[in-house]
Amino acid sequence: MGCDFIARATPGVQGLQPYVPGKPAQELERELGLTDIIKLASNENPLGPSPVALAAAQQALTELHLYPDASGYRLKQALQQHFGLDPDGITLGNGSNDVLELIARAFLRPGDEVVYSRYAFLVYPIITQASSATAVVTEALDWGHDLDAMLAAVTERTRLVFIANPNNPTGTWLSRAQLCAFMDALPASVVLVLDEAYTEYSEDPEFPDGLALLARYPNLIVTRTFSKAWGLAGLRVGFAAANREITDLLNRVRQPFNVSGPALAAAEAVLQDTDYLARTLKSNRAGMRQLVDGLERLGLAVIPSAGNFVCVGLGRPAGPVYQQMLARGVIVRPVANYQMPDHLRISIGLEAQNLRCLQVLEEVLSA
Ligand SMILES: *Cc1c(COP(=O)(O)O)cnc(C)c1O
Repeated sequence: MGCDFIARATPGVQGLQPYVPGKPAQELERELGLTDIIKLASNENPLGPSPVALAAAQQALTELHLYPDASGYRLKQALQQHFGLDPDGITLGNGSNDVLELIARAFLRPGDEVVYSRYAFLVYPIITQASSATAVVTEALDWGHDLDAMLAAVTERTRLVFIANPNNPTGTWLSRAQLCAFMDALPASVVLVLDEAYTEYSEDPEFPDGLALLARYPNLIVTRTFSKAWGLAGLRVGFAAANREITDLLNRVRQPFNVSGPALAAAEAVLQDTDYLARTLKSNRAGMRQLVDGLERLGLAVIPSAGNFVCVGLGRPAGPVYQQMLARGVIVRPVANYQMPDHLRISIGLEAQNLRCLQVLEEVLSA
């Protein structure tokens, strides 16, 4: 070997565990020779892509030989129209994971502290550690964020706080009043990254709209994605909204062509497809009720969720249950890497998928 490359990596990267995505259906097909697999493991939109988005992406394919618009002018105009955002306050990303990483790159030095909660989205620990910053992890409250504990964890070394609302993998959420009280108490020098990947799904009238809070809190960054309710996970597009100064910083570290032409076009188009969003929310509402009812009928403890997934406690190790469900062609998500070894996370699917998932789970649990 000669050279110890691991020793040459940065300390953060040396100890890093890569993100484990939901198992692709094709992988299970290869491994077990199964067909007719259902995947409810990555919180994807079960309706398939919006036809409007698909047509726009197809049209954009005629320009595959060209670099995309590095400024994303048209998509930013569409975001301004749709959300009332300042185009100079938008940073486009290759999925919102990309913008989360840009935030870490722009703000974190070794020794800086980052506050997030237990059961927070795993990308936060990964980008914190990759930056050789120090994670300060607070205990959860009813599987969700303990905002008092998070405030108490802030020191003069704290640079960033990460909160996903609703949270993944637990589905828990914070009200507008809770969030605003937190922001009012947070030192102005500490940036809150409010990850609103699932915001479209919430039906609670007290659920906050982070974008509407940007004018009030200069130390707020809101991230959104087209991967979930907008059904474009495969194209990779998301964005951060923040004040112009923060946006300028994020765009300094952004790769100029980080969002592809088809992704820009599809995202711009899908914002017009109000019918698709309405169908998505309707399907999710019905599927959520179906899954929650079915899981509770099995005597399982479902954590109330405002997203397009539910986290369910099995009262026993979930790993073997996950494996046996795989063997029957149903892919769900184990969350042992979130320190929830007895839980599974199940994405809301179409009615027939939810039904089959419930049947297979019941079969496995009673075997
Ligand atoms: C799915 C998800 C994202 C979005 O990821 P993309 O990179 O936009 O596909 C961001 N945050 C959370 C909490 C998520 O669950």
